[in-house]
Amino acid sequence: MRRRLAAGNWKMNGTAASLSEVEKLLQAHVSPSVEILLCPPATLIAQMNWKKGQHPLALGGQDCHAEASGAHTGDISAAQLRDAGATFVIVGHSERRTDHKETDEQVRAKAEAAHEEGLVAVVCIGETLAEREGGHTLDVVSRQLEHSVPEGATGENTVIAYEPVWAIGTGLTPTSEQIAEVHQALRSRLSARFGADAAFFRLLYGGSVKPSNAAEIFAIPDVDGALVGGASLKAADFSPIIAAL
Ligand code: PEP
Repeated sequence: MRRRLAAGNWKMNGTAASLSEVEKLLQAHVSPSVEILLCPPATLIAQMNWKKGQHPLALGGQDCHAEASGAHTGDISAAQLRDAGATFVIVGHSERRTDHKETDEQVRAKAEAAHEEGLVAVVCIGETLAEREGGHTLDVVSRQLEHSVPEGATGENTVIAYEPVWAIGTGLTPTSEQIAEVHQALRSRLSARFGADAAFFRLLYGGSVKPSNAAEIFAIPDVDGALVGGASLKAADFSPIIAAL
């Protein structure tokens, strides 16, 4: 019912020379059963879209502005991402929430802007280490889910990525039980809000996913895929993660 999704977030990494990694990835996954998404820097989206329609790779931005256009130097709109070939956009990544002080309300506005342009919004949520240690994880992610996900969200236009902040880029991962607990809680919050449609939302886990832990993470109930940072940069790392899905 929910197509599994392997999403790569290249963050502020990659130049034209990195396109060879995409070629390798495509050679390894000619007709994948899962959906593969790469979110490179915006500078590379159009270049990765060079064989539009001839390969199974979906492309996404890493952020978008809530406005459609205007005087916002350095920002990028959902329409511009779509124009370059993106069909997805990540919003509310913890690095945006931290570095740019983005609030849940701003994240929701970005997700709405993505939806207006027909992009799938990958809405990121996750607790800090202090919040986990304080026993607040479920409260924090429930609040983020409630306020960051727009009313018009559906399983078609929205993916939820649970990314504990303390697991991103650290090599640390929650236990399978901890991931399962959060994903079950998210599914139940979605059910309370969206009714039967909640079953169609894909829930990704993100945070130090690598070839050696991917199979264990993907076996957890209600994990529909992963948002992968560092290990998505090289085909040699991302390919076995996709294969484990
Ligand atoms: C991310 O950036 O969303 C992420 C999960 O990073 P990493 O896989 O490197 O922890």
